[in-house]
Amino acid sequence: MTQIKFDFAEKLFVHIPTDRKIIVPVSGGKDSTATFILALQHFDKKQIIALHYNTGWDHPKTYEYLDYMQEKSGIEVQFTNYQEAPTMPDLIKRNKRFPNRIYRFCTARYKETATKRWFKDNGFYDDRKGQMWLGIRSDESHQRKKKYGDLDSNEIHDYADVFSWFPKTLTKNVSLRFPVMDWDSSDCFEHIRKFGWKHNSLYDEGCNRVGCYPCLLASKKKQTEEFNTEFGQKQLKFIKDLEKELGVKYEMYDEDQGSCEVCNI
Ligand code: SF4
Repeated sequence: MTQIKFDFAEKLFVHIPTDRKIIVPVSGGKDSTATFILALQHFDKKQIIALHYNTGWDHPKTYEYLDYMQEKSGIEVQFTNYQEAPTMPDLIKRNKRFPNRIYRFCTARYKETATKRWFKDNGFYDDRKGQMWLGIRSDESHQRKKKYGDLDSNEIHDYADVFSWFPKTLTKNVSLRFPVMDWDSSDCFEHIRKFGWKHNSLYDEGCNRVGCYPCLLASKKKQTEEFNTEFGQKQLKFIKDLEKELGVKYEMYDEDQGSCEVCNI
């Protein structure tokens, strides 16, 4: 193992050589971007796969940022595709209800089913070997600290030990790494800046997370802030139209209904 201390990042990163494909889920947010940059700094780009969990519910600036990442890195960003319902409004119609804490079908379909299918379609259920680099940080929330806080950023983990619900056909071929687990938010911004990249401009508009816009399980306060922007008004119209079409009222709650474990990375 080679220990590298970047002159521009205070955190230690241990490079662990591997021939496996390095798969980095990229949301367009700072944590996954910093993770992607670490991959670029240590592996040939032919070895790296950038994967976006597509919900069809991101802000246009996030899609622009994914284009930017693609241009800067020379790596095509691949998108998962849940064909039965490619966008969030399609999925809500299909389920005839809005997602909530109990019926978190948005996570189930877009972050789990579609991801499993992507792995299957790309040979990782056969004998192709991968190492997935997740940009999860333990200080992001109490929930994440509790669930992931003990995972060492400089170790490779068994997929099944962390996400036990994924099938063995996949977990035998794909391992996990959490390279920025012990970084804080400013470490990620700094790492992006010192690499010469810009961050997603949504952060400059007051967003503290990037992903579904808004996350339909976020607190009422957070959703209201995002619905009140120009793009948010368009999203709100989808919700209002769905309320009429389905005859179901859209509820927001004061408390965040729990972050998706595989969202916001
Ligand atoms: S970020 Fe929110 S709305 Fe999007 S898939 Fe996750 S829980 Fe659902």
